[in-house]
Amino acid sequence: MKIDLHTHTSVSDGTLTPAELFDEAVLSGVDMLSITDHDTIDAYTALQEKDTTALTLISGIEFSTEWKKIGVHIVGLNIQLDSDAILFGVKNQREARFTRAQRIAEKLEKLGIENAWEGVQEIAGSSVIGRPHFAQYLISSGVVKDMKQAFDKYLGAGKTGDVKQFWKPYSEIIEWIRDAGGTAILAHPDKYKITRTKLLSLLDDFKDAGGQGMEVISGNQTADVTQKLNLICQEKDLLSSCGSDFHRPGQAWSKLGNVASLPVDCKAVWESWH
Ligand code: AMP
Ligand code: MN
Ligand code: MN
Ligand code: MN
Repeated sequence: MKIDLHTHTSVSDGTLTPAELFDEAVLSGVDMLSITDHDTIDAYTALQEKDTTALTLISGIEFSTEWKKIGVHIVGLNIQLDSDAILFGVKNQREARFTRAQRIAEKLEKLGIENAWEGVQEIAGSSVIGRPHFAQYLISSGVVKDMKQAFDKYLGAGKTGDVKQFWKPYSEIIEWIRDAGGTAILAHPDKYKITRTKLLSLLDDFKDAGGQGMEVISGNQTADVTQKLNLICQEKDLLSSCGSDFHRPGQAWSKLGNVASLPVDCKAVWESWH
């Protein structure tokens, strides 16, 4: 079974349209797929007219939030897309993203980067605005040479464009997911640049708030990271999930559907759904 429960499309910061991503997943032999765009479920609206029976499509979303001033992401899987809780959640996050983008633009403009607001809106178009769109603007206006430099200098953790205060608390986000009948999963726990002790503490708080699982596999991580996360997952008695975090073709660390199998002793999240 090829299972990929974390992917992005052009409705957030990915490059493929929802239909292109779906077709690509089928071509890559994916059996179970979730599209988990940042703070939006628009991909599922885009797929409404499409025949999606070639694989098992699991509804999903990746919410942005913070824990103790650290930006963290929570994936909601198997959510009821027309539930009041999710519709309320995405409306809230859309507004948060818009206000945050205005704030980021203001801050960049203060640093002498002209027309950041107009520029980023043009680039994002109808997509939900995120920092990668700012990165593209910085590249296209010649301020930085590539994505990495854009995040290292302007947008990454602790930099000018790292604005988090607009997100709802993680407890509320978990509540939206649970109220929508979904499963709340801590996304890519190895990406937060926190100590093991802090991660354990984050997982305790996440669980206390109703969080149910964590990604044991994200992208093509090394086997020792998988082993470390698996042990933590078992210790905290959480469900395990796995996904590529695919954003675009050609990205070295994440290929669509290229997700290692979960360790055999895991309680896989999809087993909790039947
Ligand atoms: P946002 O959702 O607006 O907070 O932006 C976060 C997104 O930016 C992530 O989901 C990644 O797609 C992307 N991202 C974060 N850090 C980096 C980085 N160092 N280089 C390139 N892209 C990044
Ligand atoms: Mn992203
Ligand atoms: Mn993420
Ligand atoms: Mn993601």
